[in-house]
Amino acid sequence: MIIIINIDQNDGSWYTADRENKRAQTNTSPIFSRKDHLMGSLIVKNLNVSIENQPILTGVNLVVPQGEVHAIMGPNATGKSTLAYTIMGHPKYTLTGGQILLDGRDITGLSPEERSKAGIFLAFQYPVAIPGVTVANFIRTAMNAHRKAENPGDKGIPIPEFRKQLIEKMNLLEMDPSMAGRYLNDGFSGGEKKRVEILQMAMLSPKIAILDETDSGLDIDALRIVSEGINTLKNSNLGILVITHYQRMLNYLKPDVVHVMAEGKIMMSGGPELAQRLENEGYEGIKSTEAA
Ligand code: ADP
Ligand code: MG
Repeated sequence: MIIIINIDQNDGSWYTADRENKRAQTNTSPIFSRKDHLMGSLIVKNLNVSIENQPILTGVNLVVPQGEVHAIMGPNATGKSTLAYTIMGHPKYTLTGGQILLDGRDITGLSPEERSKAGIFLAFQYPVAIPGVTVANFIRTAMNAHRKAENPGDKGIPIPEFRKQLIEKMNLLEMDPSMAGRYLNDGFSGGEKKRVEILQMAMLSPKIAILDETDSGLDIDALRIVSEGINTLKNSNLGILVITHYQRMLNYLKPDVVHVMAEGKIMMSGGPELAQRLENEGYEGIKSTEAA
């Protein structure tokens, strides 16, 4: 397997590291023109985003193929959540330039609901409560909307089948079955909220899952359970983009590529060792070596 290790954020040129024979290749044509990446990938091309006329992202280029795990690390307030929300289509974020493609299809103009149906999933950094809607009903409604998008005549997932799948995935995440009947995130602990996010991901089988600081608010045991749960979901049809401050979740998820984001741009990309370097040296250490 060839994994893209770095994309030049200005011109889209790239190089790969072939892990097996450790030979790096360089290619000066933009990554986005690689035919094998047009299908089955999330492609973020020169993304520029503002919030209330304030530029936040200033030219982000990223390719996350299905079957790979990519991590984005970076200091607070550099635009990581902005990137996640923009990929999902949150209306608060104004696109001032660039394009988002999934599976070769331009999804830049789609609503969040349409993007979800197209196969993008976002696990929120701060999940919101919906009193009155149970976890089970919320997930079943989302699943049925996806099924209907694929097949307009679909009558919805039969309840027994839904229950079976739900219980199976809840067991995987070591969740108490009674959680299914509680109102979504209403009074949930930080850890419970994050597990419910991953439960939704498990049930919806997205093509690309973005996990925004899923590790925050988890104690060590919950972190292990949630990470192992995510690992069991890994497959060749799922690309994962993990946003995190810490190496600890990456120790479980073992990303193929680590990107460092700062000041609204991806500053550097590398293999898993880059996460370890960040942990040891901090972002300042990395920035100063690059500047030297
Ligand atoms: P990160 O996830 O990397 O910590 P964010 O994407 O949340 O960063 O934020 C990037 C920048 O955008 C920050 O400077 C933040 O203050 C700003 N920002 C985020 N949301 C809003 C908002 N609703 N209004 C104004 N500025 C915002
Ligand atoms: Mg954030």
